[in-house]
Amino acid sequence: MTPDPTPAPPTAEILYRNEVFQTGLMAQLLDGIYDGDMRIGELLSHGGHGVGTFNGLDGELVVLDGNAYHMRSDGSVQKADLSAHTPYAVITNFVPTIVRDLPPSLLRHAASQVLDELTISKNYMYALKIVGTFAWVRTRTVQKQTRPYRPMVEATADEEIVQFDDVHGTIVGFRTPLFEQGISVPGCHAHFVDDSRTRGGHVIDFKLREAHVEICPGTDLRLHLPLTPEFSAADLSPEDLAEQIRKAEKS
Ligand SMILES: [Zn+2]
Repeated sequence: MTPDPTPAPPTAEILYRNEVFQTGLMAQLLDGIYDGDMRIGELLSHGGHGVGTFNGLDGELVVLDGNAYHMRSDGSVQKADLSAHTPYAVITNFVPTIVRDLPPSLLRHAASQVLDELTISKNYMYALKIVGTFAWVRTRTVQKQTRPYRPMVEATADEEIVQFDDVHGTIVGFRTPLFEQGISVPGCHAHFVDDSRTRGGHVIDFKLREAHVEICPGTDLRLHLPLTPEFSAADLSPEDLAEQIRKAEKS
């Protein structure tokens, strides 16, 4: 009698399937389509951990532990209005399966290398949270645009850097595979919010004092495209897509 074929073992570090939900596309923002049709309240039905922006690029969104916060370009943070709309957001139900203390005093670049070691394959998505004390965090957050909208590379060119020193807080982010170029931001897209949930922004760089990281692998992507005339007419495949993303995200 032939034994039943044994199913292939799951990838070592990924124990469970986990869905990442996204509304809108990075390529759409680059084309200046800044208004979407999903409300923040509806977005939260897809998870409690996320990053994104608001219609008109009116600041950025961070969702932490099920709560949505609105971050503005001056570094201030407030609870988000659940009836506000988002043109672009990535969110998941955060179930971390990798939790590690990080070596002290790491800069963002070095922390990123540690994350590389913790996540064996570059071919999945990873939601991550870094919780701890930071020597400093530098942020830059998009500013509300008025119609007619400029392309994102122009809209983000004059953003001010806001720095937070000796701050305790959380970085909420996603590491996204290169093959998602245009769908999302390839590499790491991270937002910072402090413990009082009153200060934060889109992360440019940081230096840790003491922190730990929690990682939740994402295996399934669910993409929600806006049903708007602007989205229907957008040019989503410009020749210099990668260059535009690099400039707009300052990565
Ligand atoms: Zn951002």
